[in-house]
Amino acid sequence: MRKMRRKGLASMAVQTAETPANSTDGTVDLGPATALSCRECGHQVPLGPVFACEECFGPLEIAYDFSAYDTEELRKRIEAGPANIWRYAPLLPVPADVATKPNINPGWTKLVQADNLARELGVTGGLYVKDDSGNPTHSFKDRVVAQAIEAARAFGFTTLSCSSTGNLAGAVGAAAARAGFRSCVFIPHDLEQGKVVMAAVYGGELVGIEGNYDDVNRFCSELIGDPAGEGWGFVNVNLRPYYAEGSKTLAYEICEQLGWRLPDQLVVPIASGSQLTKIDKGLKELIGLGLVEDKPYKIFGAQAEGCSPVSTAFKAGHDVVRPQKPNTIAKSLAIGNPADGPYVLDIARRTGGAVEDVTDEQVVDAIKLLARTEGIFAETAGGVTVGVTKKLIENGVLDPSLTTVVLNTGDGLKTLDAVAGTGLTATIRPNLDSFREAGLA
Ligand SMILES: *Cc1c(COP(=O)(O)O)cnc(C)c1O
Ligand SMILES: [Zn+2]
Repeated sequence: MRKMRRKGLASMAVQTAETPANSTDGTVDLGPATALSCRECGHQVPLGPVFACEECFGPLEIAYDFSAYDTEELRKRIEAGPANIWRYAPLLPVPADVATKPNINPGWTKLVQADNLARELGVTGGLYVKDDSGNPTHSFKDRVVAQAIEAARAFGFTTLSCSSTGNLAGAVGAAAARAGFRSCVFIPHDLEQGKVVMAAVYGGELVGIEGNYDDVNRFCSELIGDPAGEGWGFVNVNLRPYYAEGSKTLAYEICEQLGWRLPDQLVVPIASGSQLTKIDKGLKELIGLGLVEDKPYKIFGAQAEGCSPVSTAFKAGHDVVRPQKPNTIAKSLAIGNPADGPYVLDIARRTGGAVEDVTDEQVVDAIKLLARTEGIFAETAGGVTVGVTKKLIENGVLDPSLTTVVLNTGDGLKTLDAVAGTGLTATIRPNLDSFREAGLA
C-alpha cells in the first residue's frame, strides 16, 4: 500500500513541463550540476523536475562536477562575488549568469557574535547567531526558493507553487512577483496572521487548506499528478532537489564569515529536516574543496516538543521516524512527518551531535532571552534553537568551550502572538508626577 503510493508519486514526478526554456536537446544549463542522484541507491538521472528515484523511490539530490576548481581561485572568485547567495554560484545548481536574472537575491545575512548570550549560557568558546531574519521576506526560505526559481526557469514552468507552514508561501510569493511567474501557494488555514499577510501581499494566489501541513503536502502531491497542476513548479515537491541546495549557502556563509573556518558545533532547526541535511552537505563540500580545514564538527537538531518526531526517534535510538500530529506555537517547524527525518538522525549520530526538543514555554523564554541579550527578535523557530542550545548545555551534551553557531531562521514580527504577553511597562498621563508615580524615575 505504502509502496504503491510512493510508486505513484515517483511516476508522476517524471512528468515534465513543456520544452525547457534554455535548451533544445533536453540538457539544461544549471552550472556545475551534472545529474540527479538517488540518495539511497546512487542511481542517476538527467537534471529535470523529478524528485524520486525510478529504481527505489528514494529521494534525488543534485550531483556536481567540481573537479575543475582550483581552491585558491575559487576562494578569490567567491570573495569577489556579490553580497548575497550568488557569490556561491559555482557551487549551486544555477546558470553562471544567475546574478543578472530577476531574483530577490537573499543571503549574506549577519553572523552575530553573541557575547551577551554566551555569558548568560556559560559558553566560553565563542557563540554566534546566524540571523536569517535579515533575508528579503524575513526567513531562511528565500535561499531555497531562489534555487527553485532558477530550476523553474530552466524547465519552462510558468506557475510557482508550494505547500507551506507559512514562511515558504511568502518567499515564493515575493520571488515569483519579481521574476514574473504566476504563484499559487497552499498553507494550513489557521496560520499566524503575520505569515498570512506576508504571503498574500505580493499579489499571488494564497489558498488556505482545512487541515495541517501534512494534509497540505498530500494535497499538493495530488495536484502535481493532475492536469490542473500542469506547468506548475512546486518548489518543495517536483523542484525539491534544487530547492534543497539553497540551504548549503548557510553552511558556506557561516564558514566564510568565520574566516573560512568550520564551527565546532551548529544548532539547526528541523521542520522537514532538509535544511539540516544540506548544511551538512555544504560543510562536507567546503572540506572536499579545501576551502576549510578538515576537522570534526557536530550538528545538533532542534524541535518543539509539540512536534518532535525526530528528537523522539533520536532519544529512543530508532532509525525510523514515527509521524506525529503537531501541536506547538512553532508552526514554521510543525511538520509531523518530516521527509528528511532519517537522514537527520544519521547526521546527528555520525557527527556526534544530538536532536533535542523544548516546550512552547521554553520557546517563548528563549525568544525573550535572545531579544534581551542580543537585540535579535526571533520567530518561534529561533526560540526553538536558542532554547535547545540552552537545554543541551545544561544537560552537558553541547560543549560550551567550543565554537558554536545557533541559527535564527525567521523574524519575530511574523509570530507576535508567541510573545503577546509582552507590552507596555506602564501607562501614564503626560506629566512628571505621573511618571514618578509609576516608579520609573
Ligand atoms: C522552513 C523553515 C525551517 C526549516 O525547514 P526544513 O524543512 O527543515 O528545511 C526552519 N526555520 C524556519 C523559520 C522555516 O520557515
Ligand atoms: Zn534509488
